[in-house]
Amino acid sequence: MRTPIVAGNWKMNKTAAEGTALVRAMMADLMAIPEVQTVFCPPFLAVPDVARLIQGSTLAIGAQDLYWEESGAFTGEVSPVMVTEFCQYVIIGHSERREYFGEKDQEVNKKVIAALAQGLTPIVCVGETLALRDEGRTETWVRDQVVAALQNVSAEETAGLVIAYEPIWAIGTGRAATPEDAEQVCGEVVRATIADLYDQATAEAIRIQYGGSVNPGNAEEIMIQPNIDGGLVGGASLQAESFAAIVRSTASAKGLI
Ligand code: PEP
Repeated sequence: MRTPIVAGNWKMNKTAAEGTALVRAMMADLMAIPEVQTVFCPPFLAVPDVARLIQGSTLAIGAQDLYWEESGAFTGEVSPVMVTEFCQYVIIGHSERREYFGEKDQEVNKKVIAALAQGLTPIVCVGETLALRDEGRTETWVRDQVVAALQNVSAEETAGLVIAYEPIWAIGTGRAATPEDAEQVCGEVVRATIADLYDQATAEAIRIQYGGSVNPGNAEEIMIQPNIDGGLVGGASLQAESFAAIVRSTASAKGLI
């Protein structure tokens, strides 16, 4: 059985003070659900304070990005070595980074390799635009993104990482994919691609999240899908009650509480 994982991507929201207040408001509720791995992904400047707050608990912390070099003249960037000081996870290749910052598949792959080298668990984001979906290209697009992100990544490393399937048209729009569509891509595309690239055992081990307008009202029906092992949550992770409710629904959907 794969341990479900729900990560809150705060994006460019919350100062360090606001972030610690948010975590304080839901920590007890989340620690009462250790069956689900809960991960906070604050902006970099809030990471150290949130990390100190949750130290020694079942909760985990993730960065929203990193650069692939260990150190050097890369103004504005944060290295995997720096991220590991505070984080266990790192989001890589989020669609906002691909769209607004021009991040390409090859860079996503470099970041995945650099994160793994430092013992971080990458949460690799893939997903199609509405235009691609309308053209019937979702499957090939997502498959190609998965293949590109995992170039030169071993089966053992792949088994330990997380892939977040996030249809771009569902992110921040209030229009989530139907549970059936999300399951179809997570199972028949993402997990099937891992089986083709590696083997069945690796495909069974890897955790696949769905992301895109997950909220307390739709979490249970999405998380009950067999190939969906949790969620990457944006907007709803900025409120203690809604994020805790999503984590609780995930545990309940998987029959863990
Ligand atoms: C995200 O940014 O990864 C995301 C899924 O956002 P939202 O939940 O707001 O759609």
